[in-house]
Amino acid sequence: MRERFWERYSLSELTASEWEALCDGCGQCCLVRRADDNEVTVYGVACELLDIKQSRCSDYKNRFARVPYCRQLTPENIPRYDWLPDSCAYRRLAMGVALADWHPLIAGSQQQMIALGVTVSSYAVPMKEVPEYRMHQHVIARWPIAYDAD
Ligand code: SF4
Repeated sequence: MRERFWERYSLSELTASEWEALCDGCGQCCLVRRADDNEVTVYGVACELLDIKQSRCSDYKNRFARVPYCRQLTPENIPRYDWLPDSCAYRRLAMGVALADWHPLIAGSQQQMIALGVTVSSYAVPMKEVPEYRMHQHVIARWPIAYDAD
């Protein structure tokens, strides 16, 4: 990977490995979200493929085949995906914001972001443990819809 590539190149100029390295592994985009006509709701409930302890997808290679609502992030669609957290490295760079000091590419490991509670590992619960009638107890955020929530 090129040195401090995230500062020297735009998202669309990154190599595949640089693109993947930008993901800090917070797992926040792997939380269940639902949209209606007015707003998107995010739940502290993890996608069935998320390894919550590691806050990493347990089947990254096959995620699109196994989870129909999982989305490939691209330089083109990131600006539309307002449901990405403000901490997300892709979202930050797309908005012209520098990576956070705790990002593993800067801090050298995930230790700082775990200590700061950026990863979902301390609060997410597996989807299989939450019956539909209890979903409302796990709402963690709501946003008005001003974008394509898909
Ligand atoms: S929210 Fe962004 S940084 Fe966090 S896991 Fe998802 S893609 Fe990676």
